[in-house]
Amino acid sequence: MDFSLSKEQKDIKKAAAEFARGEFQADLILECETNHRFPREVFKQMGELGFIGLDYPEAVGGGDLGVMENVLVIEEFCKADSGMGMALHLAFLPAKIIKIFGTPAQHQKFLGPLVKGDWVSAVSFTEADHGSDLTRMETTLREVADGFVLNGAKVFTTNGLYADFFIVLAQEDLDARPGKGMTTILVERDPGSWLGGSLEINELTGKMGLHMASSSELVFHDLKVPKENILGERGRGLLNVLDFLDESRIEIGAQALGICEGAFLKALRHARDRKQFNRSIIDFQGIGHKVARMWSQVQSLKWLTYYGAWLCDHGPEKLAGAIPMVTSTVKHHVPETAKAIIDNAITVFGGYGYFLDQEVERRYRDNRIIEMYEGTVEIQLNNIVRILKKMAPGFMETEIL
Ligand SMILES: Cc1cc2nc3c(=O)[nH]c(=O)nc-3n(C[C@H](O)[C@H](O)[C@H](O)COP(=O)(O)OP(=O)(O)OC[C@H]3O[C@@H](n4cnc5c(N)ncnc54)[C@H](O)[C@@H]3O)c2cc1C
Repeated sequence: MDFSLSKEQKDIKKAAAEFARGEFQADLILECETNHRFPREVFKQMGELGFIGLDYPEAVGGGDLGVMENVLVIEEFCKADSGMGMALHLAFLPAKIIKIFGTPAQHQKFLGPLVKGDWVSAVSFTEADHGSDLTRMETTLREVADGFVLNGAKVFTTNGLYADFFIVLAQEDLDARPGKGMTTILVERDPGSWLGGSLEINELTGKMGLHMASSSELVFHDLKVPKENILGERGRGLLNVLDFLDESRIEIGAQALGICEGAFLKALRHARDRKQFNRSIIDFQGIGHKVARMWSQVQSLKWLTYYGAWLCDHGPEKLAGAIPMVTSTVKHHVPETAKAIIDNAITVFGGYGYFLDQEVERRYRDNRIIEMYEGTVEIQLNNIVRILKKMAPGFMETEIL
């Protein structure tokens, strides 16, 4: 067992921390936060410096590395700033599904510009009546002589206002059993790529956090796209999404890890510097123990997340079956515990913690969505119970955990 990062991984982590220190300037953060603006110029710089597509093939300009390297970058970015880190990660995360299921031509067309920071990606699975339950889509996909026609509406698509392409889950076989007959298809934003119809995009306002990323409704009106836009096997759409979520939920966990790590560091500094009753508040046991507990919790989340990433990248064949279990563990446990850590950070800050400028309250609001998107905490717990019910007695003694 070796817990150390490789030299390359340490260099990536250090470079990500330096990039965040240099580019995530306080005035830029405040401007993007208050104007609900995606920092596209920082995304472009990220691409130029090679932080996007670390897990993509070299043929499209990627790093040919893995989930672990992405996790290190996301952790550092979200440690530096929750809003900025999440918005930047969410701009490239959706394209992972193309990395997994795309043809070489789709890799070149979509991943190539994304790696350079020129294109932003989005996934559109959720519909008004289908959130946790994706076993049926109302958005339909119909094959015609020269293309595929989409009709229907999606909600909560992150990056809707500025994404250059969308990965859409649609129902192709209307008579299929639940979970079957769905297909994933690529839709470009550029109307020049359409063969007919239209795409309406409406921004959903008034979110609790995640202010630097847009959240939109997408409405497809007989939108016709070319046949080569089909992503992966037809009829296997939901399975494509579930395979994507196995990896992506680990990276989403890294958002929460970085956010609470940053909140812990801020709280530690404040607890040492802030004096009341002529003593640093860390010397009051009520505060000191809180800080100590936050430290222990951050450490446990870090190693759980790293283990999940390692499993995705190196898990031997016989451990592949453990990935959904670990992925759901990361996806529910990290943001839930991060919420408690950030809440304690607010307590350490006293009244100052309630204001935006200390940005611990913003970390709380931003972290809250991590419990929901890409499958809620309850859905992750359902997954874990489903697997636990099937485990043979004595499974804890095996290599799996
Ligand atoms: C800011 C934001 C960004 C998002 N980005 C995207 C995106 O880019 N693309 C995309 O496709 N979607 C996106 N989503 C949608 C997100 O994934 C869904 O909101 C989420 O999966 C939950 O679906 P729902 O909101 O319809 O809640 P529901 O499914 O209605 O659930 C409501 C409550 O019931 C619980 N529940 C439901 N079923 C069960 C069950 N079987 N057992 C126990 N509890 C259950 C849920 O856990 C939840 O607490 C985003 C959402 C938000 C808010």
